Amino acid sequence: MERAPGVFGGPKVELHVHLDGAIRPETILYFGRKRGIPLPGDTVEELLKYVSYDTPLTLPQFLEKFNYYMPAIAGDREAVRRIAYEFVETKAKEGITYVEVRYSPHLLANSGVDPIPWGQADVLSYLCPQLGFRSACLILLFMLNSPKQVCPWSSYLTGACSPDFTKHPVIQFKKDRANYSLNTDDPLIFNSTIDKDYGIVKEHMGFTEEEFKRVNINAAQSSFLPEKEKQELLNKLHEAYGMVPNTS
Ligand SMILES: [Zn+2]
Repeated sequence: MERAPGVFGGPKVELHVHLDGAIRPETILYFGRKRGIPLPGDTVEELLKYVSYDTPLTLPQFLEKFNYYMPAIAGDREAVRRIAYEFVETKAKEGITYVEVRYSPHLLANSGVDPIPWGQADVLSYLCPQLGFRSACLILLFMLNSPKQVCPWSSYLTGACSPDFTKHPVIQFKKDRANYSLNTDDPLIFNSTIDKDYGIVKEHMGFTEEEFKRVNINAAQSSFLPEKEKQELLNKLHEAYGMVPNTS
């Protein structure tokens, strides 16, 4: 089995991550400079002091983080194209084999700085063909109802859950063998990778390799992929995990 990086060595499926919360700090600095838009820092380290955090904040404090950097990106097609490309590159490095990403058109297009109408089709057309692995990249732009999308580190930092990880609702989901996925949510702001979330549930909630496999297979089943591609993804996961597909 090809070993992906991180806490769980198998290929992973991520269903809940925001493009506007998953931008490389270097890219923000680049566009801030290029477009003459002031940022709170000139280096990655300085910038991260403002845009990321690691102890719980209130929701308004969390949302404020976007105000620091979105003006450098918003309304700039080249910037959006680049962050979309880099996003998939980053996810591939994290061992994510399939990701569904969402974005907030109002944040990317309308931060009051030189707004350009930015259609969903534009983002799609920039994202998928350049990547050349469509089955690994389905970009979805709607906040649709889907099975539980758990973001452990995010839920801690945004105060959505008790700060005590041993009381996290995902423990019950695991017990119930529920259908849910594990996700990063806003990795720029939470200064994290998917490994952070997998590490938390492994260390504090007793997650095993078997549960990680089950979670990712469920996530693939719950994805928005068309049936044929979903089957391909599931086959790939089963093969990588050394499992026999459940054909019932
Ligand atoms: Zn979210």
